[in-house]
Formats: sequence, structure tokens, C-alpha cells
Amino acid sequence: MNISDMEVVLSVMKNAGYRETVDNPEAAEIIFINTCAIRDNAEQKVWQRLNYFWFLKRQWKRNVAQGRVVVLGCMAERLKEKILDSDKMVDVVCGPDAYRDLPRLLQEVDYGQKGINTLLSLEETYADISPVRIMKNSVTAFVSVMRGCNNMCSFCIVPFTRGRERSRPVESIVKEVGELWEEGVKEVTLLGQNVNSYNDESGVEQEVEAGSNWKYSEGFSSMCKIKNVGLRFSDLLDRLSTEFPEMRFRYTSPHPKDFPDDLLHVMRNRHNVCNFIHLPAQSGSSRMIERMRRGYTREAYLELVEKIRRTIPDVGISSDFICGFCGETEEDHKETLSLVSTVGYDMAFMFAYSMREKTHAHRNYADDVPEEVKQRRLTELIETFRESTGQCYDSQIGSVQLVLVEGPNKRAPETELMGKSDRGHRVSFVTVPVPNRTAEGAADQQQQRNPVVGDYVEVRILRSSRASLYGEALAITKLSLFYCNTVENEGVACAV
Ligand code: SF4
Repeated sequence: MNISDMEVVLSVMKNAGYRETVDNPEAAEIIFINTCAIRDNAEQKVWQRLNYFWFLKRQWKRNVAQGRVVVLGCMAERLKEKILDSDKMVDVVCGPDAYRDLPRLLQEVDYGQKGINTLLSLEETYADISPVRIMKNSVTAFVSVMRGCNNMCSFCIVPFTRGRERSRPVESIVKEVGELWEEGVKEVTLLGQNVNSYNDESGVEQEVEAGSNWKYSEGFSSMCKIKNVGLRFSDLLDRLSTEFPEMRFRYTSPHPKDFPDDLLHVMRNRHNVCNFIHLPAQSGSSRMIERMRRGYTREAYLELVEKIRRTIPDVGISSDFICGFCGETEEDHKETLSLVSTVGYDMAFMFAYSMREKTHAHRNYADDVPEEVKQRRLTELIETFRESTGQCYDSQIGSVQLVLVEGPNKRAPETELMGKSDRGHRVSFVTVPVPNRTAEGAADQQQQRNPVVGDYVEVRILRSSRASLYGEALAITKLSLFYCNTVENEGVACAV
């Protein structure tokens, strides 16, 4: 999300007359620091960077007339003036909904003031801004489709730093994806704090009864009221995957409550929507899940996992977990370990809990799990995850995966390429000439060439190591061709 936000910031600055980005902060006239506030750890890193820039700036002022440090994003939103008062020589503090105001804020600095705007908006989606891509030659890109979160999970600061949910109109997203396709992008990750509660209300002409027609995953609930039901995430995915059949789509980060059947069906039926779902559980104990105000139970979560696996064959699942949340007992922790073993995740993001001001937990609970217990539980969780994920990687040995080549394998840049499979696993293989698939699906042995960045390559998996796969390239193909020829026979529809 922060990369995507920086691309919006670059566009705003470009329109204000700033033309060039530089590689070294030492050479910059303005340094933007985009920040995260989700954990104390993330904020400490930002303070370390600010210390570094503080030293840099003292030298810098001697060399460059106009040296500015700008703090953007969630930490700016959370701490506001406190950052300006911190003695770190920060010039501008700008919250995530105020990026359009940056040129004015920087002008204030020219007049000897500090600039600050941390107003949150109910409407801002930056839909009309064409982001300036940071990784210009990359074949993958991010597209932000919604912002904010209404969920108020008791541990989470995001609703206070990113504001209420709002979605970009479908048309503006289709336009941006079309431009990316023209630039040679082959895979787009759709982004949002709560991406699958996407709700494009721009075409809704009158208010409908609160909550009507809005389907949650079975057994899940939410405290939020939905006023108008517009085009939902399944509609957006359906439209994008139909309009761009040779482009692959992923999305993050979803909430497990927003997986109604029609979303699962779009994922199953569209060859170019990746078979990968991030399903943040946070805990395996129903008691803790309730204290976290997540709106489900362990049982409902497991039933959803089962339904996802029934509906979408060979789907990969990842998750987020918090260790040592307020009141977590050894029993609760064991339930989390058992959930991780039961589900067998492809990936997981695991953290020790750190309390954030303003949240429901801060106001109502005690942060009563000692730090060393949190760390011990985190270690146990990581070990449990590693045991189960190894099996998930091993199970793919012998299969043929479709890999979008993203670049050389850093470990053997001269001889190997690296990319991601549909399921999001890193796959590397030796660069050798391989045949092209013809429109009829045959491997044309007369037309062999080395795969290059941006090619879709069929790779047979030969071995797995922790968190990556290694295989042999078989053929270069088109995305739709691969699924029509390889997967259709296994009962998955191929819509091109
Ligand atoms: Fe935070 Fe995600 Fe919960 Fe929203 S859904 S409050 S972003 S954890």
C-alpha cells in the first residue's frame, strides 16, 4: 500500500513541477518518508531513519539551498504535530488523505513555516490521479482500489490512521489497468486495507435499506452498517479478468468476512485470477477472536477454509497471526498452533502484539502478557508454521506451474530466472531455449528461444526448499492458452 501511495505522491509532485527522483537521499532536495504505524517496531524504524536524516540535513543545508524532510502516511496521521515538535528537523507532516495538498504544504515551508495536514476524508480515493510508477520496467504493478477500514478490530490502529472505507469507481480502475497493460505490465495486484469489502457506490441512484443484499461469508458477521450496495469486489474482478484475459490479477489484503460464494466462483471460473487467498485469522482461539472483535469463530473460519478449498482446486492460503494479545492464555495459544497445523498455510505473517493508543484494546484491556512470553509464543508459532508449510511446498514437486518471469534469480543471475507461480510461490529455473506454444497448444520445436522477463513459462517443479521452488522450463506460453489446455480437463472453466 505504501508503494502505491508513493506513486500517487510522485504524480502530485510531478504535476507541481518536480521532475526528477534520485537514488540517494544525500542527493535529494526533498526526502519523503512514507510510514506505517501498525506496530511499535515499525515506528521505531521510522524514528531511526529520521535521526539519520537529521544528521544528513545538517550537512545538506550547507550544500543545497532547499532541503526538506516530509513525513507521510499512518505515523504522520497518528502523531501529527508531535513529529514536528520532535526536534528531528521535519518540515512537513502529511496524512494519507492529504497528498494533493503537498505542494501547498511545501510552499509554507518556503515562507518559513512548518506544513501539516492530517485531515481524513470520507471521499478521497485519488481515482483521477495517474500514479507515476516507481519500478518502471517491472512486469507487475499495484493498483489501489479502495482505502480505509470500517472494522474496528480491537487491536488495530488502521481505522484511525486511514479513515473510513471508500472505493474507487470501477471505470477509473479499468482505465488504470488498461494503461498498465499498454506499458507491458502482465500482473496487477489490487490493493485496499479491506480490499474485498470493495463497494463502488458511484452508480447507485438511491439509498437502499441498510445491510440489504450484502452477503458475508457464512458464519461471519460485522458491526459495520452498509448504506448503499453498489458493485462489489466480485464484480470488479469479473470485469477486469474479462477485459484483460492475458493479464493476471491478485489482491490484498482481504478480510475473511467478505468471501461470499460469488467471489469464490469468480476466482474459480477465471483463469487469470490467481488461486491464492490471504485469510487473516489473527488467532485460533474463538475467545481471543471475540476479544479482537473480528466477527467469527474458529469453527466458522475453518468451515470457510474448507469451502474455499472445495470451490477453488489447488488454492494457496496465507494468514496473519498475533501472539500475546491482551488476556491470551497458554490454552488460547495452543489453539492458534493447532489452527496453523490444521490449515497448512502457504505463507504467514506472525507478530508479537504491541498495544497501540486509541484502539479498543488500549481503552478497555490490559496488555498483560509479558514480553518474554509473547516472544516465546511467537517462536513456537513460527516453528509450527514452518513444519506445515514445508509439506505444502513439497506437495507441488512434479506438478507444472505457470510462472510469470520477473527477473534473474539473484543467486545465479547469469544462468537462472525467477518468477511467481499462480499460487504466489517463488520459482526459479535455468535459462535454456524452450519451445513456444502455438495457438492450438502444441509445443513448436522449430521456434525455441530463451525465456525473458514478462514471459509466462510452464515450469515442471523438481524440488522445493523453504519458501521457494525450483524447476525446469518446458515451454513459453500465453496465460489463457495454458489454462485452456492444461486445466480445463480438470474441471475448471476457461473463460477467454
Ligand atoms: Fe485493522 Fe484489518 Fe481489522 Fe481493518 S480489518 S481494523 S485494517 S485488522
